[in-house]
Amino acid sequence: MTRVLSVTSEYVPLIKTGGLADVAGALPAALAPLGVEMRTLLPGYPAVMAATRNGTEAVALRSLFGGPARIVQSNCDGQIVYVLDAPHLFDRPGAIYSGPDGRDWPDNPKRFAALSLAAARIAADGLLDWQPDVLHAHDWQAGLTPVYLRDLERTPKTGTLLTIHNIAFQGIAAPAMLSDLRLPKQGFTMDGFEFFGWISALKAGIVYSDKISTVSPTYAGQLLTPEFGMGLDGLLRHRRDDLVGILNGIDLDAWKPPYARPVSKKKHKAALRAKLGLPESDGPLCVVVSRLTQQKGLDLLLEALPALLAEGGQLAVLGSGDSTLEAAFRAAAARHDGVAVQIGYDEALSRQLIAGGDAILVPSRFEPCGLTQLYGLRFGTVPLVALTGGLADTVIPANSAALAVGAATGFQFFPVDTEALIGALRSLVHAYRTPEIWTRMQRNAMAQPVGWETSAAEYAALYQTLKK
Ligand code: ADP
Repeated sequence: MTRVLSVTSEYVPLIKTGGLADVAGALPAALAPLGVEMRTLLPGYPAVMAATRNGTEAVALRSLFGGPARIVQSNCDGQIVYVLDAPHLFDRPGAIYSGPDGRDWPDNPKRFAALSLAAARIAADGLLDWQPDVLHAHDWQAGLTPVYLRDLERTPKTGTLLTIHNIAFQGIAAPAMLSDLRLPKQGFTMDGFEFFGWISALKAGIVYSDKISTVSPTYAGQLLTPEFGMGLDGLLRHRRDDLVGILNGIDLDAWKPPYARPVSKKKHKAALRAKLGLPESDGPLCVVVSRLTQQKGLDLLLEALPALLAEGGQLAVLGSGDSTLEAAFRAAAARHDGVAVQIGYDEALSRQLIAGGDAILVPSRFEPCGLTQLYGLRFGTVPLVALTGGLADTVIPANSAALAVGAATGFQFFPVDTEALIGALRSLVHAYRTPEIWTRMQRNAMAQPVGWETSAAEYAALYQTLKK
């Protein structure tokens, strides 16, 4: 039995802004049959406190970064979660990383340093009646965990793993915060957590963790390059032997299509068109469920849109993010009958889109793993993706070799630019209008394994190597 404490800022079903939440939420149940007991530590945001009201106080901390705190133990869908209840850090309105004005909370470095310190203390000081063999830190929010652990443990007894879900977010803090964050001064060097004169929580995690993982093999390779490493590629090349890519899975129960055969999608498509006010059409209905940011390449889709519409395709978008992209998609919906756009975050609508759509589009410039193409595969909603990161690892593109053996599950385009995207959209429409090809692709997609089996076993084996 290996005991692992997963340290995360998001966790489905308690709090979610992106894929990290799905992954952190799915791992404990996926690992349980493999002899891994994973428990999770996460911040006590208002939504998390409300959902774990039945919890019991496991330990009280007199002071944690400027205020009293406690760790509340609760049961969430059969899994044990430890909630860090620190009202001075987490009990506030707005989103979890930003205030009602949309700006990041200025004390974010301190808020997530507190999460990381609490995790290190659970391992090193035996704060609870349960002690992990391994600390599994996710992203910059938990990046300082191994730094604090080293400070607290004289002889190392806890293994550490950092998972990079997205290297674009690095948890940068001003050097003046060094003592506020209770960080050891000697670590503020190029070989430590200093990054061009700033404190970097993600770099700390990379430097001080025993092992580093990211969420797909292709992204693990890309992180070693200046194009994708966002300034940390040199360090990652240095730690190359300790870096692995383990593909994300999806929770097959939570993401179960409401039909067994792709032909039954028809009624869901009709319902979706009616709901969104899209006219009937004999072309494919393409859907997008995404944050609207530069990363996701949706500006390319706006440029490619006239070509898709000219081929008889339609587009339905659900997302929120950059105000310019939001406005551009709203304008496209106003201009074209075949385009529907919903700005916002809506879990129920996301499922209706994936069930009712013919294809799901993910034109990302970079994509560590990507989850919506996996939902697409599971639902027989054929993915069209950029050839990058986890998108490259999860979609079998309809090239002539794959079509010849009947193995294709989607479409890929490269380079990630408008022309290549238009080419792939044309191939998609053509395949859609060739029913024997399209139905075969849908069936292949639905049969492709996208659950956690393989990846959970890889994590379990990795934890085993980390036990001290
Ligand atoms: P990222 O973590 O970069 O945002 P992923 O594809 O890994 O991208 O995960 C995004 C997750 O968030 C998926 O579960 C997706 O369905 C969900 N999601 C993104 N935008 C929305 C939205 N507007 N409404 C509902 N769910 C969304």
